[in-house]
Amino acid sequence: MVSRVRTVLGDIRPEELGVCDAHDHLFLRSVQLPGRELDDAPAARAELAAFRAAGGAAVVQWTPYGMGRRAADLPELSRTTGVRLVCATGLHQAAHYARDALDTLRGRLAEVFVSELTEGIGTTGVRAGLIKVAGGFHALDAHARWTMTAAAEAHHATGAPVAVHLEQGTGALDVLDLLCGALGVPGDRVILGHLNRFPDPVVQREAAASGCWLAFDGPSRAHHATDWRMPEALGALADAGFGDRLLLGGDTVVAGARSVDGGPGMPYLLRRVRPRLVEALGAELVDRVLMDHPGRAFAVDWV
Ligand SMILES: [Zn+2]
Repeated sequence: MVSRVRTVLGDIRPEELGVCDAHDHLFLRSVQLPGRELDDAPAARAELAAFRAAGGAAVVQWTPYGMGRRAADLPELSRTTGVRLVCATGLHQAAHYARDALDTLRGRLAEVFVSELTEGIGTTGVRAGLIKVAGGFHALDAHARWTMTAAAEAHHATGAPVAVHLEQGTGALDVLDLLCGALGVPGDRVILGHLNRFPDPVVQREAAASGCWLAFDGPSRAHHATDWRMPEALGALADAGFGDRLLLGGDTVVAGARSVDGGPGMPYLLRRVRPRLVEALGAELVDRVLMDHPGRAFAVDWV
């Protein structure tokens, strides 16, 4: 069996990903963000082109089921910009959905995830390459346990990695206890997102010791008062021997955050974050984080 990253244009070898934004969004719609949707294909194309011009080669979109992923648009966007794209199945927190939308998924959530990973999303034929779920603020509610149980089942059926939104960066150890402890997902098949938002170095080290991937993302959003701690946090993890567990992403979630709409957007990750991290960690590790780790985190021996 050979490990492959499942992109929207088909499966590729991990080393073909290149410089990768391991957590971002081209399209995203939520009842929580009215009027700020990412729902514009020309803007998505321009943002990808800007990322490409800054040296980017691949983007992993974490937008899950029912949040306006626009899977049908992704192959053409990837082809025309030359940026590899990986898209997600999975489910976000209940607050991002209408109640009746969730009711239709009761009893068949794992089945939906598996079908989107193996058959394709809807009738698009575009297959998801990861399962995105979400924790809660310092706790896991019934919805989080339901979605994580389904994600683990879909992981066991396919091998797909499980990427987790940590609410305000919290709850990492609760998520790992459930996913890796009770539900048996191997640590290196779990990617924890938003750790930079709750920069407790002890929790981050304990999470890394489970073997999971730590994704530091969203370093361009004005409300993240902890962004400036990122170089220090990554340095501490590297010093503790966990440099090989790190991933980086831009996590653009609203239209105003796009570089083509005047925000920092995807290019900021390479334009400003990368040199800042090179200063803190050295070019060798930062290159591995951007070019080698995403391939390892998202490559799967697809069942
Ligand atoms: Zn995100």
